[in-house]
Amino acid sequence: MSIALPIAVAGAASPLAEPAARLSSEAVGPRDLRSVRTLRISVTDHCNLRCIYCMPEEGLAWLPREALLSYEEIVHVARAALHHGIRDFKITGGEPLVRRDLVELVTRLRALPGCGELSLTTNGLLLARLAADLRHAGLDRVTVSLDTLQPHRFRELTRGGELSAVLEGIAAADACGLGPAKINVVVLRDYNLDEVAGFAAWTLREPRTVRFIEFMPLARSRVLSEGGQFVPYAEIRERIERRLGPLTPAPADAGFGPAQVFRAPGAPGRIGFIHAMSAPFCATCNRLRLTPEGRLRSCLFDAGEVDVRALLRPDVRAERLRRAFVECVVMKPELHGPAGDRQMSSIGG
Ligand code: SAM
Ligand code: SF4
Repeated sequence: MSIALPIAVAGAASPLAEPAARLSSEAVGPRDLRSVRTLRISVTDHCNLRCIYCMPEEGLAWLPREALLSYEEIVHVARAALHHGIRDFKITGGEPLVRRDLVELVTRLRALPGCGELSLTTNGLLLARLAADLRHAGLDRVTVSLDTLQPHRFRELTRGGELSAVLEGIAAADACGLGPAKINVVVLRDYNLDEVAGFAAWTLREPRTVRFIEFMPLARSRVLSEGGQFVPYAEIRERIERRLGPLTPAPADAGFGPAQVFRAPGAPGRIGFIHAMSAPFCATCNRLRLTPEGRLRSCLFDAGEVDVRALLRPDVRAERLRRAFVECVVMKPELHGPAGDRQMSSIGG
């Protein structure tokens, strides 16, 4: 597989340009806690799909239930995050909706004083069933991963998933106020590159955000061993512009994630690109991650982790927990390497 080497990102806009009241106008870097805005909380490494770019069909060692942080423990970590002004929480996995009683976690997080935006990333399979309860519990919005609009391809890419269930999930999220659901599309040369312009055209009809993600060569997957599937951001964008016209920069949401956001001419929706491989955005990265077994992690690609489960069991050590965030953020790399050795699903994508 050919992957462009990371290029320099010096001079990239700081996330502090965003209207974050808690932050001063003083520029702070990714290794400063004041620049961190979001904690991505992975609640499980398990999943009801086996996407061919994310994990192998079998042979993964799943975490036993007792290894997962309980909801109560996750809330302790969230409280420590809030202490540092990290207000937004994104629930992810594995597939977060397979974890039992996830609505309860949303209720508990929403009840925390100072809690900001609460969002969830899901494959959408169970969303139709849960969307209204999640909204009622205080979830603000969802992102749904959807890499193709062709049912047979969807089955191949996910190893058996039903596209119609995901589309129903998106409709349910939109209907109950969790939308318009953002759509994440991982682009693969021989599987869905021919669909990117069609996905982008979705933004001409609705005020939805569709984000195209470069394939990241993490750990084990069929796509990684096949090779040749990586498509750089510039090529994806060029295809879209050929069909929709030139893209112009669009305002990002407050606390924007890593995506660069654009609009096609006349479109109510937005098109985002997550180009972690061809143009890493480490300089503007504003997130930390909590893995399902309780490790605070500085970067998807970097092994820098602090074990916070040890600070929760048998007793909660609140002061040490708060310090763990300081220890973790200094591990944030200035520029990440091209690959990692843990599955995306076991870190929290
Ligand atoms: N199961 C949920 C889902 O699919 O949305 C949440 C977890 S998943 C790991 C989070 C995101 O990571 C999804 O949008 C998925 O498409 C993306 N992802 C997984 N493996 C990837 C890879 N190797 N390269 C790029 N994106 C990947
Ligand atoms: Fe599961 Fe999400 Fe990975 Fe697909 S991308 S296998 S849905 S965790």
